[in-house]
Amino acid sequence: MSRFESSFIGIFGGTFDPIHYGHLRMAEEVVETIGLREMRFVPAGIPRLRSAPVASPQHRAAMVHAAIQNNPRFVLDEREARRPGMSYSVESLRELRQEMGENVTLCFVMGADAFMRLSEWHGWHELFQLCHIIIAARPGHALTTNHDVLPHELREECAQRWVSSAGGLAGGLAGTSNGLIYIAPTTLLDISATAIRTRIGAKSSVRYLLPDTVLDYIETNHLYSGEE
Ligand code: ATP
Repeated sequence: MSRFESSFIGIFGGTFDPIHYGHLRMAEEVVETIGLREMRFVPAGIPRLRSAPVASPQHRAAMVHAAIQNNPRFVLDEREARRPGMSYSVESLRELRQEMGENVTLCFVMGADAFMRLSEWHGWHELFQLCHIIIAARPGHALTTNHDVLPHELREECAQRWVSSAGGLAGGLAGTSNGLIYIAPTTLLDISATAIRTRIGAKSSVRYLLPDTVLDYIETNHLYSGEE
């Protein structure tokens, strides 16, 4: 089956403050490894578990748009950026499940640092009823087959859910199309939005850490320089 006929859809949430090559390369490799039909980038409005983003939801969504516009498999989904109040991934996944129907397999994609904190998320148990979870390693966040590093409650919930190959996701848990967890092999790129914001604040170059289109947007709108 070609990728474009695949029923697997990736959902990639984040603050994207700003989006960078760590996000983009990871997304590209996950699309390829799993054979996703599309990867939906969902910039968060106000995330619950971290300090408020620096750039507005509108600016962060516009930067995602600037970064992904030439990739036909990458899609911007602005539902959280437009929603007033806190962003809850579980609500977006519920909506997507309703919109796309039961024949689609949703793969929720996150870095290992985000996964380590999953049991702090609002409604996190329900995520396993709605989607598979795909984890990408991130420099400094070891997550291998050694699951002892996970918080107890998360480790218990996940114990029967790990699959060791992308092909293992097709069966789903007990024949359903949700509830499994896969660690995708991806190139480790030690790039973070925090480091990018710090460098811009210090008037240092961030070229080649993120696409030129995003850099142009940041400069045009005076983001992260302390002048906005
Ligand atoms: P910040 O430095 O502001 O915390 P960030 O660079 O971690 O930002 P986020 O928007 O918070 O970016 O991340 C969104 C998602 O992308 C998270 O699941 C995170 O784990 C993942 N991610 C971010 N950077 C990388 C990277 N370099 N490699 C792999 N995954 C990444």
